[in-house]
Amino acid sequence: MRCIKCPVKASVELRRHNSSFCSPHYLEFVRNQLARNVKRLRMFAPEDRILVAISGGKDSLALWDLLLEAGYSAVGLHIQLGIGEYSVRSAEVSQDFAQSRGAELIEFSLDQELGMGVPLLSRVLRRPPCSGCGLNKRYLFNKIALERGFTVVATGHNLDDEAATLMGNVLRWQREQLARQSPSLESNHPQMVRKVKPLYTLTERETASYCLIRGIDYVVEECPNAKGAHSLLYKDILNRIETESPGTKQQFFQGFLARMRPALQREQTVDLLACEECGQPTTGEVCSYCRMKDRVQNYIAVNAPNGASRRDT
Ligand code: SF4
Ligand SMILES: [Zn+2]
Ligand SMILES: [Zn+2]
Repeated sequence: MRCIKCPVKASVELRRHNSSFCSPHYLEFVRNQLARNVKRLRMFAPEDRILVAISGGKDSLALWDLLLEAGYSAVGLHIQLGIGEYSVRSAEVSQDFAQSRGAELIEFSLDQELGMGVPLLSRVLRRPPCSGCGLNKRYLFNKIALERGFTVVATGHNLDDEAATLMGNVLRWQREQLARQSPSLESNHPQMVRKVKPLYTLTERETASYCLIRGIDYVVEECPNAKGAHSLLYKDILNRIETESPGTKQQFFQGFLARMRPALQREQTVDLLACEECGQPTTGEVCSYCRMKDRVQNYIAVNAPNGASRRDT
């Protein structure tokens, strides 16, 4: 199998594009995908200051690498979630990458911010770990971006993530979530920063191939809390369909963006207010983050006045 751009033996095959590439031409393909997505959805301009959410996984590190390579002002933000060895390794990998590129990495610890990490938070809130974790990440990305003068937050979500989320939203007919699902979300409140997903046209396997060719070390293991998540089941189902019919995943998500989302968006009339406690956007008087924080502080005051984190195992 030869590269479609040159006579060299191909190292990556993309069945859905009916293409195969040698390593240099594969990197060119990925860079072109990023450039095309950024331009088509007007995600950001060269003068924007981009805050990149860094988990330590392949997608976020590939995105950061691509943005730095393209000359953007891209600073990483890693939130230490306190999920045992997984979080320790994620922080190390993120720090090593930043150091290798001479890039700035902002590190933030949930333990320091809240007084506890994701495992104890889940028990205090009596909600699955991903619920509290997601709430914290969404809130903190926006807050830190605002406080430090970033104009856009970029995440490494890929085509598999987006197609699986879409499948979940469709199976439950979640209209509001469907209307908000987009690779480029404009700010609709003065305290909300634009959010973009520049890798939304690349699959997980494609970002992994990019990291392999670029020699990027990333955390291969999934977060232990992802086990049994619906999103993994949807990804598996979509992958099985993709094997039989290459390109289905892409058609599913792109078709939604082109044909369904504009209609749903027109229906959306949610007015966002400023949270009475922190000023961040919310649909009620007090945002869900502040309500969560109150519960956490009450728990700490009653159960662990000398620090909850020591019990956070
Ligand atoms: S799997 Fe859940 S707990 Fe783990 S990092 Fe993702 S959202 Fe957080
Ligand atoms: Zn080639
Ligand atoms: Zn608030």
